[in-house]
Amino acid sequence: MKLHCTNCNYQFTPKTGKMPLRCPYCDKPGTVEKVKQMQEWIDEFSVNANE
Ligand SMILES: [Zn+2]
Repeated sequence: MKLHCTNCNYQFTPKTGKMPLRCPYCDKPGTVEKVKQMQEWIDEFSVNANE
């Protein structure tokens, strides 16, 4: 799982596998989001294509 901070754009992978509440770089709370992996884009596309 890869995460990124929407505030400072810092990308990282949490060692615990959990979403941290704060960005480890800028220490802002609530800015950490999951980065969409290429496979997720592909999955989403194939779902839409079947409709
Ligand atoms: Zn940050």
